[in-house]
Amino acid sequence: MTKIKMSVPLVEIDGDEMTRVLWKAIKEILLEPFIELNTEYYDLGLIERERTSDAVTLAAAEAIKKYGVGVKCATITPNAQRVEEYKLTKMWKSPNGTIRAALDGTVFRHPVLVNGIKPLVPNWVKPITIARHAYGDVYSGVEAYLPEGGKVYLELPNGEKKLIKDLPSAGIVQAVHNLDKSIEGFSRSCFNYALSTKQDLWFSTKDTISKTYDHRFKDIFAEIYEKEYKKEFEKAGIEYFYTLIDDAVARVMRSKGGFIWACKNYDGDVMSDMLATAFGSLAMMTSVLVSPDGKYEYEAAHGTVTRHYYKHLKGEPTSTNSVATIFAWTGALKKRGELDGNEELQAFAERLEKTTVSVIESGTMTGDLVPLFDKEGVIPEKVGSIEFLEAIRKSL
Ligand code: NAP
Ligand code: MG
Repeated sequence: MTKIKMSVPLVEIDGDEMTRVLWKAIKEILLEPFIELNTEYYDLGLIERERTSDAVTLAAAEAIKKYGVGVKCATITPNAQRVEEYKLTKMWKSPNGTIRAALDGTVFRHPVLVNGIKPLVPNWVKPITIARHAYGDVYSGVEAYLPEGGKVYLELPNGEKKLIKDLPSAGIVQAVHNLDKSIEGFSRSCFNYALSTKQDLWFSTKDTISKTYDHRFKDIFAEIYEKEYKKEFEKAGIEYFYTLIDDAVARVMRSKGGFIWACKNYDGDVMSDMLATAFGSLAMMTSVLVSPDGKYEYEAAHGTVTRHYYKHLKGEPTSTNSVATIFAWTGALKKRGELDGNEELQAFAERLEKTTVSVIESGTMTGDLVPLFDKEGVIPEKVGSIEFLEAIRKSL
C-alpha cells in the first residue's frame, strides 16, 4: 500500500503525561501506517519548556502562524506542586494561554457524538459548538470591597466623572473592560469558523440591560457581518443570528443542535461546562483555536489525565479515552488537506473519525464511557488505552 503524502508540514505539538503516551501510540498505530507524516515537531512537554525557558512555546505558535495548521497534545500548566515535582526554575505560564495570545484566537469546542451515548437533552441530535471570547470582561476586572460604603465614580479620559453609586453602607464594586479590536477579532474567528464548518452562527449578549457595553458587541458583530461575511454566508446557505442571551438559552434547549453558539467570556466559560456534561464526557470534547486571519490549532479539551499516568508509570493497566486526541489529529489533517487540495488526506481523516465512532458504537470502549453507554443489543466492553487504538486499527 502506498502511503498518503503531505506537501506542507503540519505543526505537531507534543505534551505531557498520559496524553503524551497516547500521542505516540496514536501516531504509531493509526497514522504512520497510512500517511507519510510530514510534521514540524515541537516538544511542549514540561521538561523541554523548562530547558528552553519556554521559548519552545512561542516557537510553536510562530510555526502555526507560518504553516496555518497545528495539532497539540494536552500540556501541564504548572502550579506550586509541579514546580516542586519538575524542579522548575519558574512557574511557566499556560502554553494554551501563550499560544492563544500569540494567535489572538478564539476557542471552539464541540462534542463527538456517538449512537449509544445519549445527550442529557434528548432533542440534541447534532453537536453544539461553543465559541468563547477569551479576552477581558470580569477575567481582567478590577474590584473593591468598601466596608464603609461611599461614593464611587467612573473617571473617563475626557475628564468626565460618572457616579456609579453612592453606597449607603458596606458593599462591592467592579469595573470591567473590553476592546473593539478584540471583539472584531472574535467576530471574524466566529464567522470564518461558521463558513469553514458550514453551520449557522448564533451570538447572544445581554444588550437590553447593558446598553453600551454588551450593545457594542452586538453592533461590532452586525457591522462586520454586513461588510465582510453576508454574501459568503448566503452563498454557503448558512445564517448569522443574534438574540438576547435569555432567548438563546431557551432556544438552545429546544434545538436539535448543529450550530455554533458564540458567547462572551463569562457566558462561554459557564455554558461550555454545561454542554460538555450534557453531551456525556469531557474525554469526548474536541477543541480548535481559530485566529481572525484563519490559522487553526486543534486539541483535546481535557488535560493530561495525571491520575491515569501515575498508574501507567507503576505498570498498572490504564483505560484512557483517546477520542478527543484522535479527533484533534483528524481535524488538523482535514484542514491541512483542505488547504493543500489533498483529497486523499481529507478522506483518510474522515474515515478515521467514522471508524473511531463505529468501534465505540459496536461496544468496544474505554472505561469512562461504559457507564454512559446504552444501546439495545450491545453490551459495552471496557478495553485498555492501547487496545482501544488497536481495535480502531483493525477496523480501519
Ligand atoms: P484532566 O487531565 O482533564 O483529568 C481530570 C479527570 O477527568 C481524570 O482524572 C479522569 O477521571 C477524567 N478524564 C479526563 N480526560 C480523560 C480521558 N481522556 N480518558 C478518561 N478519563 C479522562 O484534568 P486535571 O487532572 O485537572 O489536570 C491534569 C493536568 O492537565 C494539569 O496539570 C493541568 O494543568 C493540565 N490541563 C491541560 C489542559 C490542556 O492542555 N488543554 C487542559 C486542562 C488541564 P478519573 O481519574 O476519574 O478517571
Ligand atoms: Mg468553565
